[in-house]
Amino acid sequence: MDDIHQYDTFVSMVPVVQTKVTFNEAINLILKALKPLGADYLRTLDNGLRSRWVDRYETKGKRSGAFASSSYGNPPYILMNYKADVFSDVFTLAHEAGHSMHTWFAQKHQSFQDYGYPIFLAEVASTFNEALLTHYLLEQADDVQMRAYLIDRQIEDIRQTLFRQTMFAEFEKEVHEIEENGGPLTLEVFREIYRSLFDAYFGPHFVIDDELNIEWQVPCLTRFLSSLCRPFVEAVVGESVKFRGNLNHADSMSRISAGLAVAATEPHDVARSW
Ligand SMILES: [Zn+2]
Repeated sequence: MDDIHQYDTFVSMVPVVQTKVTFNEAINLILKALKPLGADYLRTLDNGLRSRWVDRYETKGKRSGAFASSSYGNPPYILMNYKADVFSDVFTLAHEAGHSMHTWFAQKHQSFQDYGYPIFLAEVASTFNEALLTHYLLEQADDVQMRAYLIDRQIEDIRQTLFRQTMFAEFEKEVHEIEENGGPLTLEVFREIYRSLFDAYFGPHFVIDDELNIEWQVPCLTRFLSSLCRPFVEAVVGESVKFRGNLNHADSMSRISAGLAVAATEPHDVARSW
């Protein structure tokens, strides 16, 4: 390949792994991977996933994707469209389980007004589980193809979080600065900022097609601007645990039990304390 375009990055560098992991086998894998989080966490999650927390499979008319949802005083619920032959669904389940357990412990330890959690922490509990699952699977996997798949997935995660999300956050910062200084926020201004950030983050060996100048119009950017540095925090937290090689599960439990009683508002506070 002589040059690389943004759309090339949507193609995985390694072939998709052929697997068949049933829903119950996925639960077993996840529980083994999350062992560092302690017996209480595992017991609760085991019971929840095997009982009625999860709407597991596709059905006619059901929406696609996956998410976790909760209401105070009730079990946390998960919507999945789990498929045994899609290996990334195991990661999706681990991710959503992280949200549910965060909610479970926050509800258990906090009153109604404090059981929510700060936006900085929400995705930490879920992507943290994905990081533990990756590490566990890499420890277990001898198969070259599976190892390649896991490492490729990790590399792509780093590109998406450390680079891309940081670029989004910088875009947000520049836009706000112009607004605060009374400058005009026109289509041309948005395009220019976005283009210059692309050049700075991905140039000059990456072909930046003109169509990318309006990529900022995607809904997640225009709707959730203020939360865009979250994934960066998550990546830092996940990696820091990996490098430390250990996890104080008592600290983690108090973190996900704190709800809004602890307002972690700064990324470095979250990363340092997890
Ligand atoms: Zn999530």
